[in-house]
Amino acid sequence: MSTTARQCHRPGCSSAIPPALVCTQLCVNHFLDEASVRAEQAFAYCQRGEPLRSADLEWLLSDALATVQHLEAGADEPDADQRDRMLELVLSLANLHEYAAHHSIPIKRPA
Ligand SMILES: [Zn+2]
Repeated sequence: MSTTARQCHRPGCSSAIPPALVCTQLCVNHFLDEASVRAEQAFAYCQRGEPLRSADLEWLLSDALATVQHLEAGADEPDADQRDRMLELVLSLANLHEYAAHHSIPIKRPA
């Protein structure tokens, strides 16, 4: 049993990884960065009518969403900035979900 806190794998970042993010190997801020960038990219694809990769959409709408909700629920000392970013991300994922559903965005499934 090691008591050493796991550290974020991004170069130059020494923040600890919360238990909810161990599988991503990212700290909260870097996870939020990553998820926001991916959500923006997916939204841009939707708006151009380009197919989304099913893995991306699934990651965003299931893994990322569940993780953010988990983080939000489990934050004992919520950092106001992080909380804002989490709420923003949940909102943009919800929008993405709506958009994909309403516009019948084609989803590319790996062969
Ligand atoms: Zn980090």
